[in-house]
Amino acid sequence: MAPALQQENAPTSSAPPSRLDEKLHQILYKPEARAVLEQKAELEVLPEPPYPIHPDPQPMTKSEYQKLNAIRTWKTWGSPYFKSRWYKNDLRPIIPYLFTEWKCNLDCHYCWSYNNKVKGMTEDTAKRSIDWLHSIGSRVLALMGGEPLLRPKFIHKIVHYSAKKDIFVYLPTNGRLMKPEVIDRLGDAGIATVNLAVDSVKDRKSLPKALDPIRRTESLCRRRWIRFVPTLSIWLSGSITTATR
Ligand code: SF4
Repeated sequence: MAPALQQENAPTSSAPPSRLDEKLHQILYKPEARAVLEQKAELEVLPEPPYPIHPDPQPMTKSEYQKLNAIRTWKTWGSPYFKSRWYKNDLRPIIPYLFTEWKCNLDCHYCWSYNNKVKGMTEDTAKRSIDWLHSIGSRVLALMGGEPLLRPKFIHKIVHYSAKKDIFVYLPTNGRLMKPEVIDRLGDAGIATVNLAVDSVKDRKSLPKALDPIRRTESLCRRRWIRFVPTLSIWLSGSITTATR
């Protein structure tokens, strides 16, 4: 090709060296020094949740469910949002994330978000974080990982403690550990939403976050009136056909 033509056809921007945001990756794996939670003489613990609180959950009509959801949405999202606008110089996060776990039971090939050598959050940190978030007006708590359900009893305690404070608890999970008893306990304690994230229908070696192994989970969640949000991630392929075959 003639040099002039080569210059004309040269790419105007170069491809990024990596699909990952390298700076973010470094921050996550080599975090900068940050404030450490002040140690107290006595560690705090989350109260043991009673179970069952609702031994015989009665079916709700659709309109009863919608009413319950509307009230909860206003109290946990709407009102805190308007207050955060009003007190805009104060720190009032609308959706705080609590990374309770950094370990995972799966190994998705693209994931940078787990490390099985890192210990999970302590009850002391969880309780003090929830108390602090509540004190500054946050009413939503998104649990994060890793896979939060690696410690179902711990998550049960967090859900119970937060729901008693009228906090909307959101749990994203790969669903593999959502056994009927776990769902019953979380629903009974007052969890608001479960987000099942899947990458494919069939379980594949590099994409184990699949729908087939967890098909019953949705109906079990609905039995406990837990809002259920499925998400399908389409990684690398760029096409639904590949992601769902
Ligand atoms: S299930 Fe989630 S946290 Fe676990 S490896 Fe897959 S993407 Fe990462």
